[in-house]
Amino acid sequence: MTVKGVLVASEANETGVLAGDDRMLIDGELQHAAGGAAFEVIHPASEQVVGRAADGTVEDMGRAVAAARRAFDDGSWSADLEFRKHCLMQLHDAMERSKERLRRILITEVGCPVTVTGSQIESPIHEVKHWAEFGADFEYLRDTGLHDTPLGPARRMLRYEPVGVVGAITPWNVPLYLNIAETVPALMAGNTVVLKPAQLTPWSGSELGRIVAEETDIPAGVFNVVTSNANEVGAALSADPRVDMITFTGSTATGRAILAAAAPTVKKTLLELGGKSAHIVLEDADLNAAMPLAAMMACVMSGQSCVLPSRILLPRSRYEEGIGLLATMMQNFPVGDPWTPGVMQGPQICAAQREKVLGLIASGVADGARLVTGGGIPANLPVGYYTEPTLLADVDPNSRIAQEEIFGPVLTVTPYDTDDEAVAIANNSIYGLSGEVSGADVDRAFAIAARLRTGNVTINGKSHFGIDSPFGGTGQSGLGYRNGTHGYQEYLHIKTIGMPE
Ligand code: NAD
Repeated sequence: MTVKGVLVASEANETGVLAGDDRMLIDGELQHAAGGAAFEVIHPASEQVVGRAADGTVEDMGRAVAAARRAFDDGSWSADLEFRKHCLMQLHDAMERSKERLRRILITEVGCPVTVTGSQIESPIHEVKHWAEFGADFEYLRDTGLHDTPLGPARRMLRYEPVGVVGAITPWNVPLYLNIAETVPALMAGNTVVLKPAQLTPWSGSELGRIVAEETDIPAGVFNVVTSNANEVGAALSADPRVDMITFTGSTATGRAILAAAAPTVKKTLLELGGKSAHIVLEDADLNAAMPLAAMMACVMSGQSCVLPSRILLPRSRYEEGIGLLATMMQNFPVGDPWTPGVMQGPQICAAQREKVLGLIASGVADGARLVTGGGIPANLPVGYYTEPTLLADVDPNSRIAQEEIFGPVLTVTPYDTDDEAVAIANNSIYGLSGEVSGADVDRAFAIAARLRTGNVTINGKSHFGIDSPFGGTGQSGLGYRNGTHGYQEYLHIKTIGMPE
């Protein structure tokens, strides 16, 4: 079967673009949008329309919120821990069965190279099981013992209770992973959920809805998915007084809008926002190891990664050496069709994103940066939203390209003379998501890491990121945590009960 010239395979283990489900899940029913509206989904490697998604309305969102409210207030979901574990283990098993289908939908929507889909398919499926087991073992009632009070000793119990109805709003760059990361711990903690996936990646959300509806016992209204091409539908979810919490991953600009919309009802908000992270390379660093890895990390998801340390700070004594190693890796990086095994960088997700990236590169050059390599569209890839791996040196830390999130396969390089100067440049940002330090003396690297105003730091390529460790940003990179015990507790309120001995 072909859709506008693009091969569409129908079976799970074949390759080629695959259209996802064009229905939403509201109150246990897979359904089209009110009025039947749909919007087009484009494959970024071919620029062709490959199918449609339901264009949910504010009215659809209202019905989903009503269903989630009813399921929380009147159903037994929040009280039945064993049943929740049972349902989420079913979800895990069903996702395992649908793994190749989910992978093809991811590549179709995002253009993520098949070779690097593991962290976006295998990891989130594993995380469903992780949260089911973690939540089953969590201690929801804790006795803190006797406390002195003016009226005599009081025993205090801490009761961890679900927050209520959680609205989950996700971005397009790692859609299945974030749909899972935002909803599964919330569900396991006893909340009901309305998921609003990003416009560019509706199917990673609608497929999850289909699996929940068709292959699990999750009751009607407990998990809802509303796809939409309109930002106002996410805005309606954020403002709805029936929603108790918004969990959001996306840009800082949208995070601010969500905070404002949540303010009138003082909703709990968990925000994971943009980043502009720095990588401080110390004089004694192993550049032969650190620079190729830094260049690879900038390219593998076409630079569409929130935690990417895109600002490389090199000591002046090793400046040209570092630039040379970065450039060599970028010039030889395997860019191309995401369906081809071995390709590590696919296209940007859409034309507008590539325009933004190319515009920022041009602004860097206009502000005095030296274009070392890249800077345009690969000559051999005229179709698809591809961008050349790009290296800019001599970048002014106050220039636009050093201050704004690029979200493309682009690294900037700035020289420094002292550790204090490197730390000051790294901290010269409204963001504070992550950072990196490379150096042979790990104690010194750790001392530098401690001075970075960010939520997370990697030293010598040892990742800070994992399901068992808290992840969150400082500054305008966010509020609150995902992952680890801290991340689970975000979806719980603590009720403190004082009682007789
Ligand atoms: P975005 O902010 O444009 O959109 C994210 C989601 O918000 C989408 O679902 C969108 O429909 C919705 N939305 C838009 N306007 C809204 C409004 N007014 N009210 C409610 N919802 C609204 O972000 P994006 O372009 O999809 O994703 C890229 C951004 O996400 C980057 O800034 C990246 O750094 C960030 N990100 C952060 C993390 C993290 O963990 N900190 C992870 C991945 C991506």
